[in-house]
Amino acid sequence: MTERPPSYLFYQGRNRKPVLDQARGVYMWDVDGKRYLDGSSGAMVCNIGHSNHNVLAAMREQMERATFGYRLHFETEASEKLAHMTAARTPEGLNKVFFVSGGSEAVESAMKLARQWAVATGQGQRWKVISRSPSYHGCTLGALAITGYAPLTAPFDPMMRPMPKIPAPRAYLDGLDPDDPITGLHYADMLEECILQEGPETILAFMVEPVGGASTGALVPPAGYMERVREICDTYGILMIADEVMTGVGRTGRFLATEHWGVVPDMIVMSKGYAAGYVPLGAMVAHDRLVDPVLDEGGFQHGFTYAGNPLACAAGVAVLEEVDRQGLCANADAMGAVLKSRLEGLMARYPIIGDVRGKGLLLAFEFVADPHTLAPLPRELKAYDRFVQIAYENGLIVYSRRTRGGIEGDHILVCPPLIVTETHIDEIVEMLDLSLTQFMAEVEP
Ligand code: PLP
Repeated sequence: MTERPPSYLFYQGRNRKPVLDQARGVYMWDVDGKRYLDGSSGAMVCNIGHSNHNVLAAMREQMERATFGYRLHFETEASEKLAHMTAARTPEGLNKVFFVSGGSEAVESAMKLARQWAVATGQGQRWKVISRSPSYHGCTLGALAITGYAPLTAPFDPMMRPMPKIPAPRAYLDGLDPDDPITGLHYADMLEECILQEGPETILAFMVEPVGGASTGALVPPAGYMERVREICDTYGILMIADEVMTGVGRTGRFLATEHWGVVPDMIVMSKGYAAGYVPLGAMVAHDRLVDPVLDEGGFQHGFTYAGNPLACAAGVAVLEEVDRQGLCANADAMGAVLKSRLEGLMARYPIIGDVRGKGLLLAFEFVADPHTLAPLPRELKAYDRFVQIAYENGLIVYSRRTRGGIEGDHILVCPPLIVTETHIDEIVEMLDLSLTQFMAEVEP
């Protein structure tokens, strides 16, 4: 092992990680030369893989021109081009692209634009943003207030205004058929009930992850759910905001996950895959009809210093070009189907896997104590943590959380970069297989 000086990094103080040296394509190497397959694209970020030459060249070119121009002083060719490319890839009418540097910032921006739109249009009594539990929308206090995951939110409850939550659909746990539209209506009705209970005139927006990310472990909404949610929002004049921070830019096999259901939100927030980890970048994309009244009333009272950074925008442009050039939405769709069926193969062999789910390359499997009752593994096992550690030692990076459909449980997200081939998938499944065998030996000695 390489000799290392003591680390003063806050996060790594107690749990020191290997030091990253290089990353290329789907692989990463630490300074000791150990190779890892990035089976989670970092945190579902590195969609186009690591060290893409075209993106690096575009960044180098931009760096030679200008690395910073404050957003209130300059536009850049990069920011204008990225805004144009983004609007061209989002539904008609969603033409106003507001740049930020990450997912939480994008969520905050959407909540604040929604609120300013309500005030500007004489609906100042609307301020509540309904969201779901479990859900994850970010770590800043506004985004946290609409996050449905108590371990993250509880310490800060006294600092936040409580926001209404409804259960995220969890058909598999409730014994309902996710392909039956009645199931979708059943869960969507919970939104309407919540609106009526809170008072429709007080509700500003509904924030939804189209496919759950780390919060639910890639839970896909049941048939009819998203469409019905859209109708309910329309009925009560409530804005529908799609949190596509994780699902956007091809992760689920479409540029936006909402495309799977043909649903058009009023606002979309994106980040992770948008600049694919090359630089921090995110965007809130809003419908013109929301932005115009706010601009008429003196402008959006919100904005971050680094927003629209030229280097970030140049990287964003190059990433979107790579997504198109390599057909990565289609590859996510095709390779996602291959990986999902291989995970189902593992489920057939390892009864500890109770469910395999997801869309495109946003996939997860869930550990259970009993495949029939779907009872979770005991909390003390810390299965989610232990399995990730075993896989890591075997050279595979996967992502996990202990939460599922509002009930305690362990899920493992398998979300490699969208550039994966069948050969990479063979490698991922081989390492998962080995890791499951080792994990089972620990769980059932
Ligand atoms: N929204 C969703 C759906 C996410 O998955 C995340 C991050 O995981 C966020 C928001 C927050 O993004 P960030 O960590 O970039 O602030």
